[in-house]
Amino acid sequence: VGIFALISSLFATQGFNVIGSLGTLILACYIGYLFQIFVVYGGILTACKMSFKSFLINVRSVMAMAFATRSSNSTLPVSISTCEDKLGIDRAVSGFTLPLGAQVNMDGEAYYQILAVFFVANATGVVLTPAHQLLMILAVTLGSIGTAGIAGSGPVVLLAVMNMVGLPAEAGSAAAAAFALILGIDVILDMGRTTANVTGDLVGTCVVAKSENMMDYSAWDNYKK
Ligand code: ASP
Repeated sequence: VGIFALISSLFATQGFNVIGSLGTLILACYIGYLFQIFVVYGGILTACKMSFKSFLINVRSVMAMAFATRSSNSTLPVSISTCEDKLGIDRAVSGFTLPLGAQVNMDGEAYYQILAVFFVANATGVVLTPAHQLLMILAVTLGSIGTAGIAGSGPVVLLAVMNMVGLPAEAGSAAAAAFALILGIDVILDMGRTTANVTGDLVGTCVVAKSENMMDYSAWDNYKK
């Protein structure tokens, strides 16, 4: 109700201009998530001599679950069973790396926070200097580690990051209005970032399992049988 009230007043005063910038933010975030999944994770798996295509086919239900629930923690049971049943990974590895990843490994979250801070800075006319941008990298790295793996926790940490880079969302300020706009579309952004977060945990688990010889790589081809 609070978000609805904040957004209504913004739409009433600024009209449909706001939709364009929100659309750009959504597009930019999804380009980032897709880049992370296909280029970064795909590259890591390929460099470690694992098939990215088989990986995607085997983990698609985990990715769908992350997209639908928007929670790394809720997806954890499916991630653990998929690692065991479809990726042939020893539970001794996945039982350690996946809960750890669900807590601290939030790559999608990092994209979201950086882009959201730029959105707020643009909306409020603040220019982020190179020094601000360096501070942002530190704040976002720590912020993404500190984000809980539950639906909608990103904006809570975003508030802290905004404070650190000098864009506090004080009541009635332009930064608070821009933050409210982001809150209104957070469900859409959260679906993608949670999918990227969870995929990253799975990729990390595969790399650790392979390096420790605790993976039956032949299981990856079971989907063909
Ligand atoms: N929903 C995300 C996750 O569970 C956290 C976030 O809100 O950014 O991974």
